Parts: sequence; C-alpha cells; structure tokens
Amino acid sequence: MDECLNQNSQRALANKIAEEAGVNLHDCYQCGKCSAGCPMARGMDLMPRQVVHYLQLGMMKPLLKSKAIWLCAACHTCVDRCPHDINLPSLMELTRMEAKKRGIIGVQEVDKFTDIFLENVKMFGRNQEVVLEGLYNVTTGHLMQDMLNVPHMIKNKIVGPELSMTKQAAEVKELMKRAEERSEE
Ligand code: SF4
Ligand code: SF4
Repeated sequence: MDECLNQNSQRALANKIAEEAGVNLHDCYQCGKCSAGCPMARGMDLMPRQVVHYLQLGMMKPLLKSKAIWLCAACHTCVDRCPHDINLPSLMELTRMEAKKRGIIGVQEVDKFTDIFLENVKMFGRNQEVVLEGLYNVTTGHLMQDMLNVPHMIKNKIVGPELSMTKQAAEVKELMKRAEERSEE
C-alpha cells in the first residue's frame, strides 16, 4: 500500500475518481438501493453503498484494498435503481485502475481474465474464447475450470480450432493503444 497516501491525498484521490466518473458524491444519501439489487453483492467485502460512502469520506486505503472493486460486473443494475443515477460501475472501475497502478490486486482471477481478454482483442481485433479460456486456466492454476462445458462449446461453435481475425484488427489495435496511452496520462 502506498504509505504516502495521507488523509489529504486520499480525499484528493476520491474527488478525482468521482470527477472522472461524473459523480457528485454528495448526491448519495445512502439509501442502499444499489446494494439491494447488486447481483455480485454476496461475494463483495464492501457493499456498493459502502463503496460510495468510503469515497465520500475519502477512505481510499481500505477501498483500494477491497475485493468489491474487482467483483463489480459493470451490469449497471445499481445505476438503474439509484434515485440519483450514481455511476457506481464507473467509480468501481476507476478505483480498480488506481489499485492496479499501486500493485494492489484484490482478486487475481479477475485481473488475469481482464489482461488476457484485452491482449486477445488487441491481437485479433476480437475475443477468441479458446485463447481466453486456455490462458486463463493455465495462468490461474484452475486447469480444469469449465472443461465440462467444452463439448457444448465446440458443438455450438463457441470454440474451435480456427482463430478468426476481424477485418478491422489494425484499427482495433490502434484504438486500444490510444486508450492505454490515455489511461496512463
Ligand atoms: S442507490 Fe444511489 S443514493 Fe442510494 S446508496 Fe446507492 S449510490 Fe447512494
Ligand atoms: S454495476 Fe457493479 S455494483 Fe452495480 S449492480 Fe452491477 S455488479 Fe453491482
């Protein structure tokens, strides 16, 4: 954990995240409707409502270490339920990016999955299920995960021996390069 993250810099970081997400943190009055509808809440160590509360209080150290920011599936159910349309998935993602920059990985599997998925898209212009699943299983050590589904996936042409690239693979690669440069600014 970044020890130089004192109280003022934690608050500044919370405000920066809120600004980038287009969220006014004062709009949240802790009604909890986001947490009640979140499909990932059962696995989270902080409820979505608490994530906003920690940002309101500038409590970035525990938030950066939480698993919740890695488990958000960006389904937007919370945004639909929130009386103030607070963009929680964006808050979650931006906080997760800050955690990763500091080397804090709350859920290794999510981090690996995301990295492999993005490299996959960069290389082929689209996701290749067979590459994603194979590399994910090997790099996480979950060697047999989803293996029982393979016959069904082959039958339905979700995975197969051939890898197809999109015609716009070069453009997709360029777009992703620009997005990476932007996120490093
Ligand atoms: S639903 Fe909206 S206002 Fe209610 S706790 Fe969640 S973020 Fe805050
Ligand atoms: S976007 Fe994230 S926090 Fe919101 S309901 Fe979906 S999983 Fe939960």
